[in-house]
Amino acid sequence: MLNVDDYRARILASVEPLAPLNVPLSSAHECVLAEDVSAPWPLPSFDNSSMDGYAVASAEIADASAESPVALTVIDDVPAGYRASESLRPGTAIRIMTGAPMPEGADAVVPVERTDAGVDTVLISDSVDPGAYVRKAAEDVVAGDVVMRAGTLIGARQMAILAAVGCGTVKVRPRPRVAVISTGSELVEPGTPLRHGLITDSNSYLLVAACHEAGADAYRVGPIIDDEAAFMTAIEDQLHRCDLILTSGGVSMGAYDTVKAVLSTLGSVDFMKIAMNPGMPQGHGHVGEDRTPIITLPGNPVSSYISFENFVRPAIRLMRGLPDLDRPILRARCAASLTSPPHKRQFARAVFLPSGDVTPVGTGQGSHVLGGLAESDALIVVPEEVTSVAAGDEVTVVDLRHA
Ligand code: AMP
Ligand code: MG
Repeated sequence: MLNVDDYRARILASVEPLAPLNVPLSSAHECVLAEDVSAPWPLPSFDNSSMDGYAVASAEIADASAESPVALTVIDDVPAGYRASESLRPGTAIRIMTGAPMPEGADAVVPVERTDAGVDTVLISDSVDPGAYVRKAAEDVVAGDVVMRAGTLIGARQMAILAAVGCGTVKVRPRPRVAVISTGSELVEPGTPLRHGLITDSNSYLLVAACHEAGADAYRVGPIIDDEAAFMTAIEDQLHRCDLILTSGGVSMGAYDTVKAVLSTLGSVDFMKIAMNPGMPQGHGHVGEDRTPIITLPGNPVSSYISFENFVRPAIRLMRGLPDLDRPILRARCAASLTSPPHKRQFARAVFLPSGDVTPVGTGQGSHVLGGLAESDALIVVPEEVTSVAAGDEVTVVDLRHA
């Protein structure tokens, strides 16, 4: 049996970062920038007011006070998006709004709160320093500066500056497109009445959501019945549409384990047992002319999820071009005891307690126990050589609290 780390290394070696693509900025969210972006113009690109008020020559109001305000003639009015049609002359002010360009001759803005808000003449009751309330051109970004480096993940805070420097399109590594094919003749869609022996297809919902959280665009295919021809057709249909195929089910030792039967004959998909619990039966490889990567996950829902966390999530992040493939790992006290099978790495569903300790979920660790999976926000990792954890022991924990 291969250990978890060696299998993970094999999976990571079987995928590569997706080729960069020019996309509209609106589609670049959560993609990784593939080239340095520099500013074609400075930010701000012109001196402008940071307040609603009056553009003035600060020297003219140096002696202004509440007791003896200075009167100036208002000769123009500039909203944001317009320019003053006149330059400031001695004895004048120009009414100005936040973001409007500074008029010629003005070196400061007096906020409207420090005036009588006059329209033809304004009484100014306070002095301001030269440059007060003026946002100087280029104080944020100088023209030609690199504003974002290749490799940056584009989130909300990164979007703003890309838009501000005029990126209509950006070169990014796109979000991987993942086809999730669930297999099993017992599977029906949620919302369909269940005959005895049937269950609803929960894995594909779990996996598509997990893919989205990992930064992929995933979609469901199936459920596909345990029939070799039906499965083959489903795979062939997806080959040209996606960057990665995920299947669930059909990879154990059962008589109807179609996924294994069909893909084994293709020659480039390997099936093996991994020394882990849950999630022992696994497979991965490539299919079709374009050698689309495929990862075949076990059918038991918890096994599917634990396999996703260990193998698929890092693969998706590698395809996105992210340097950091793993979730945060920490050490915490385990509040209750736990047993673990020998020679296997166990991933026990657990919850963080307010104290920062973790405790295994109450409903048990069976690979079909969906209640415990839903409750969990942590995985306790019990090493291969450890078969029991006592209450109070320190354990390694995968923190699932952040996507
Ligand atoms: P398999 O790996 O196909 O032998 O499936 C193992 C177990 O997982 C069986 O109890 C299946 O009914 C269950 N299972 C397989 N696929 C799914 C699925 N998509 N959703 C929920 N349970 C599944
Ligand atoms: Mg099955």
